[in-house]
Amino acid sequence: MTKPSHVIDLLARPLGVLRLSLTARCNLACPYCCPESIEPPGLLNTYDQLRLIHAACQLGAHTLRLTGGEPLLSDRLWPLLDALSVGRQSVSHPFSRLKEVAITTNGSLLDHQKASRLRAAGVDRITISLDAVDGASIARMAGLRSGPEAGNALLERVLAGIDAAHAAGYNPAQGRLKLNAVIQRGHNDDQLIPLAQLARQQGLQLRLIEYMDVGNRNGWCRDQVMPANEMIQLLHRHWPLQSIGRPVAGTCRQWSYKDGGGMVGTIASITEPFCSDCNRLRITADGQAFTCLFASEGLDLRPSLRMDVSDSELAEVMAQLWIGRSDRFSEERGLIQKGNHHAEMAYLGG
Ligand code: SAM
Ligand code: SF4
Repeated sequence: MTKPSHVIDLLARPLGVLRLSLTARCNLACPYCCPESIEPPGLLNTYDQLRLIHAACQLGAHTLRLTGGEPLLSDRLWPLLDALSVGRQSVSHPFSRLKEVAITTNGSLLDHQKASRLRAAGVDRITISLDAVDGASIARMAGLRSGPEAGNALLERVLAGIDAAHAAGYNPAQGRLKLNAVIQRGHNDDQLIPLAQLARQQGLQLRLIEYMDVGNRNGWCRDQVMPANEMIQLLHRHWPLQSIGRPVAGTCRQWSYKDGGGMVGTIASITEPFCSDCNRLRITADGQAFTCLFASEGLDLRPSLRMDVSDSELAEVMAQLWIGRSDRFSEERGLIQKGNHHAEMAYLGG
């Protein structure tokens, strides 16, 4: 096995995480995200995806996060996981450098069979997204047209998904199962405490995400951003908290409940940007590589995935992209104007 090259960008940030989007489609339609109803043309096949992961591992990636759209909608998930699992078991294979394979899902399609299959295929962590516990709020946040009953039915499915993940061995106490919630002021800020209550009951770490200005379609405005420190103050009034801090290259600042009720986190991309140690490369389902969530355009890797381009040439293209990277949009927000076109969240994979 060749040694990884550990590429470093212009701001001295190493590549650490590959976020691979499997599909731009979703079975939900959260208005803050606005997924595609059809796939972009030129979807990558499993072989292409494996070549990209292989190259990322050679450049220093230690974590793979599978995302979408809704990744459990993609039938390419399973062959990809099977091949990854075989590679990770061989010490001489670059996939064995992956310390962690994780998946982010809305949880609505997660049943016992899928959770066990994810576990058997070596997925180490599952993050489930849920933005409310009240039927009407869930329906609004998930873009369901049929109202509170549909919201309650979705909640049941997500709770069943959480149970299935537990049963398959995803132990929240080991950080293997977490809950994500986007909090949008005026939309679901009243759900923050009930969500924290639910997460505490389930022993899950809740990660509260500030509403981000990704994409064009969600009509983002700053008034709808609830700053992380406000979320924390609200929680602190119910359950006193102690700050633990944000791990290097992590997105999530963590807090512990002083009463022993576990942990809660905030992902404060708007009010406390974490560009300075960002180590994430995103590749979309159609092979566009983005070095920032807020970029307008990616680099099309499909020409480098042709059969006449060698694996080392592909890795070189990705290395040059990373080496030339200087993005720090969240830190520069307000100083610079975004271009007219920005890639959408469900296309980028969050
Ligand atoms: N469908 C999966 C899910 O919902 O977990 C995976 C894809 S989704 C794009 C990944 C994460 O991005 C989710 O936790 C979602 O809540 C978050 N997200 C989407 N749009 C967002 C926005 N505008 N601001 C903040 N987070 C957002
Ligand atoms: Fe789908 Fe996830 Fe986007 Fe919601 S946040 S629409 S579940 S991709």
